Amino acid sequence: MKHIAILGSTGSIGRAALDVVSHLGEEFKVNALAAWSNGDLLAMQVEQYRPELVGFGSHEDARVAAACRRVGARLVLGREGLEEVAACQGVDTVLNAVVGAAGLLPTLVALRSGKTVALANKESLVIGGELVIRETGADLERLIPVDSEHASLHIGLRGKKSRDIRSLWLTASGGALRDYQGPLADVTPAQALAHPTWNMGRKITIDSATMMNKGLEIVEAHYLFNMPLDKIHCVMHEQSIVHCLVELNDGSVLAHMAWPDMRGPIQYALTYPDLVPSPLPPLLPKGLSRLDFKPVDHFRFPCLRLVRDAAEAGGIALAAMNAANEVAVASFLAKEISFVDIPKVIESVLDRRETICSPKLEDIMNADRAARENAREVINHLRCR
Ligand code: NDP
Ligand code: MG
Repeated sequence: MKHIAILGSTGSIGRAALDVVSHLGEEFKVNALAAWSNGDLLAMQVEQYRPELVGFGSHEDARVAAACRRVGARLVLGREGLEEVAACQGVDTVLNAVVGAAGLLPTLVALRSGKTVALANKESLVIGGELVIRETGADLERLIPVDSEHASLHIGLRGKKSRDIRSLWLTASGGALRDYQGPLADVTPAQALAHPTWNMGRKITIDSATMMNKGLEIVEAHYLFNMPLDKIHCVMHEQSIVHCLVELNDGSVLAHMAWPDMRGPIQYALTYPDLVPSPLPPLLPKGLSRLDFKPVDHFRFPCLRLVRDAAEAGGIALAAMNAANEVAVASFLAKEISFVDIPKVIESVLDRRETICSPKLEDIMNADRAARENAREVINHLRCR
């Protein structure tokens, strides 16, 4: 039996993961669950999956506490509680589906506690890639991607030698605005949240509309597959059927295809190294009726350049960039700034940043905090225009 913990169980990935576990049956046991603010849903999940350990945000919630009492689960609170869940005794695999920089510490703690991490929280690798890879003890089998493009690459690269690979390509749906013709400055949160192919949390859906998501994924692939950044590219593919392309040295290309449904990559990560039957409908032949590819418009999506600049600058630049993006996206969703202000906020924060090479965890946390403060100052300035 495989014992798992799910961090971020109330989110889009967390809920899909619980679906997958239900389908996989008795060989999987949910030992621990953690969420942040959605007490109603967490309480229901606790009653249904009967974990031993439950983590919740910063204050006790009566519904969660009552559910824990009923099933005999121990309840832990706050950031420390989340770390306790990541280190939960008896758990083999921790699925980290927390959103944002808050996911880094749990990833590190889970790896340090000897767990395998099924990683949805791409921000862990973006801001702390070197620390995370070091914590695997160079055993990358302990870090299995859940992000669809990376799960596809993980399959596509099985048995390949790195010297045989010329480049990796991530496909991008283009997000909610790919067919939008009007001025980007007029885009509302509702428009940017209307993703055509994927149903995801709010932050990643806005990241898809700005293409920041693809930038984060380039860095994620760089660490997961030990591939230089200049050998990782992206291409627009509106059907979201092909998730990655692996270009081999002889010029041939491998594509990995699947329905755009996160239950596929989640199941892959939880059952790795096996490939087990999935409840999703067959892809062939209907899924291949049309497959389009076109180059990315870098002028329209400046976030891609900002990520590459920060990645090349190295050190704490990616942590600052990520924090600025999180603050800017929240501010756009709160209707404080416009869609085109998101890259402006990030660029201003990156301009102000100090340089620290080979940062320690403390440096990354400090850079994250400082960048959030800077981003709020820039936003206040933009709002006074
Ligand atoms: P959601 O916003 O739907 O869910 C986020 C989860 O994290 C919720 O359970 C939420 O708890 C919890 N959470 C929020 N803030 C904190 C915090 N400060 N500390 C601890 N937990 C917190 O996000 P998604 O499921 O869409 O995404 C999760 C991660 O997976 C992201 O990193 C995203 O980039 C990645 N990912 C998502 C995909 C998708 O299809 N959704 C695809 C590929 C990657 P609560 O709701 O209780 O407040
Ligand atoms: Mg993805």
